[in-house]
Formats: sequence, C-alpha cells, structure tokens
Amino acid sequence: MNKERKTRVLVTGASGFIGHHLVNYLLDRGYWIRGVDIKKPEFAETRAQEFSLLDLRRWENCLSATEGVDEVYALASDMGGMGFISANHARILHNNSLINIHTIEAARRNNVRRYFYTSSACVYPEYRQTAADITPLKEDDAYPAQPQEAYGWEKLITEQLCRHYREEYGLETRIVRFHNIFGPLGSWEGGREKAPAALCRKIAIAKLTRRPEVEIWGDGEQSRSFCYIADCLEGIYRLMRSDYPHPLNLGQDRMVTINQLADIIAGIAGIKIAKKHVPGPQGVRGRNSDNTRLREVLKWEPRISLEEGLRVTYDWIEEQVRRKISV
Ligand code: NAD
Repeated sequence: MNKERKTRVLVTGASGFIGHHLVNYLLDRGYWIRGVDIKKPEFAETRAQEFSLLDLRRWENCLSATEGVDEVYALASDMGGMGFISANHARILHNNSLINIHTIEAARRNNVRRYFYTSSACVYPEYRQTAADITPLKEDDAYPAQPQEAYGWEKLITEQLCRHYREEYGLETRIVRFHNIFGPLGSWEGGREKAPAALCRKIAIAKLTRRPEVEIWGDGEQSRSFCYIADCLEGIYRLMRSDYPHPLNLGQDRMVTINQLADIIAGIAGIKIAKKHVPGPQGVRGRNSDNTRLREVLKWEPRISLEEGLRVTYDWIEEQVRRKISV
C-alpha cells in the first residue's frame, strides 16, 4: 500500500449486507473509504471515513459520490430474495438501470481507475436450470441469454456496459457473479431476506416459541449453493486486484436443497422441526457454481463450510429474534 497517500475507494450500497462488511474489510487493509447509500446501516454504525446518504439513481449524486476516488466498488442495488425479485420487475429494472448507468459514467468522468461491478448468478439462462441436480454453471453458459427475471436482465446488460467502458474508454472493470452470499448483518425479516436468513429466522422462532412448524416455499427440493460472507470478501478483493476483466463466478460449489438447508439450520439450533410446504416463489429449480475458472484466475476458492457459516449466521439471527420477542 502507498505510504504517502492511501488509495481512496468508494463503496456504493455501503449500508447493505455485503457493502457494510466490505467497508470493514477494506478499512482493515489500509484503504480510505467513502461509503454511499440511500439509507443508513441497519445493524451497526459504518466505520467508513466518509459516509453520505445519496440516491444513486440521480446523476448529480453519482458525480459527487465518485469525485476524488481511485476505485469504485459498485454494490448499490434495489434487490432482495426470491419474494422481492419475483414481484417487483419494473421497479428493479428501472432503479438498477439508473443506478448502474449513472455510476459507471460518473466514474469515467471523474477518472476513476478501477471499477468493480457486482453481478449475479441470476444472469444464467433459465433453460440450464430446470432440474434440481443440474450441471454447475460455467461463466460462458450465460449466452444465448435468457436470464432470470428483470433482475437478471439488468445485471447482464450492466456486465456488457462494463465491458464496453473498458474496451472503449480504458476504465479497468472487474465483474463478479455472486452465488447466494449469506452471513450476519443482513436482512432477516421484512420481505427482502434470502433463503438462509429467512430459514434461520423461522427456525429461531420455532425454537423460542416451542412451535416446531416451519414453512418452506414449494416442495423444498429446489437446490442452490451458499457462500459465506468472509469468503465472498476475500474473493472480491482478489478479483479487484487481478488483471482478469471478464465475469467470474464467486460462490461455493456444494449444492444443497432448501429442505437440506433447513435440516442443517435446525441441527445448529438444536431442535426438531416439522416442515410445512406452502406455495411461494422458488426461482429456478437448481443452480450451482462451476468454480473451475475461479480457481484458475484467483488461485483460490471459498473454503468456509456451509455449517460453519450458518452457525455464525443462525446465532446472530436468533439473537435478533430473541430481542424482538422480548420487546
Ligand atoms: P443489499 O440489499 O443488502 O444492499 C444493497 C444496498 O444498495 C442497500 O443498502 C440499499 O439501500 C442500496 N441502494 C438501493 N438503492 C439505492 C439507491 N438508489 N442509491 C443508493 N443506494 C441504494 O444487497 P447485498 O446482498 O449487499 O448485495 C450487494 C450487491 O451484490 C448487489 O448489487 C446485489 O445485486 C449483488 N448480489 C448479491 C447477492 C447475494 O447473495 N447477497 C447475490 C447476487 C448478487
């Protein structure tokens, strides 16, 4: 790290789940951080040297946010779990298009050197994810395109935007495709939470109220892989520092069904649950990450086990539920 002047970094979506953890991770590595978000962090104060409440759908806010920084980690997004992204297509496509088009153009105008974009496994075509035991998805599988929902389309377009800004304007862009990141300090109630957090909450309630019934959307045989936040942060950092400009998967490659995920969490909670399968949005039937390219490019892959990550996450969510119940 430069001893005279710290590298100045903007993290957008700094109050969100991954953004909040990323601010702490980069601070601990000696960076100067400006955090920007439309809301304040929900669960802990930000440690960023500078923090601004800004709506990044607006061009002038993107210009001021990117002023005087060397690098941008673009995480801001109007998003949530399956419940949210399957019910808000117009809003997601509109808001995230504005955020991403304005943020990258503002970064270019302000001569930012490096730009990190957080894409998603939702860019992969639905026709490759129709069975629970699917072949893991390789980066090149994204085309011919048929992404999941408006959320996936917007991510795919912004990946292309990053490519063209690099090729035509020389902005060094890095693109990650996350596969279900989970951990503490993320949404766990209210409609934006994802499967691991939602199941931790339901199982914590079952434990604390001694009512073992836990609702699961669909038959619970839909499958995914889940990656713990600490691995996600290391992967982000390694990719940003690499010279690899193409989209790269970042996730675990151990696939489990939602029923299995619930059983693991119930084991951690130390209770027996009765699963009640109810109608609800399930997304694609099966999805897993092929990590061949991740290993080649980063000489590394996620190593924290699902059980280890879920233990920390469950303990944190049980504590949140406990506090809420006792209020
Ligand atoms: P998150 O919802 O916790 O964080 C996103 C943040 O963006 C929120 O704090 C939100 O307030 C902020 N934001 C929304 N609209 C904004 C606006 N107009 N102006 C400024 N800020 C705004 O999500 P996360 O899980 O931390 O995800 C971070 C990024 O990674 C997102 O781009 C997301 O699409 C992507 N991603 C996440 C996952 C995952 O499993 N968590 C998977 C795939 C992709």
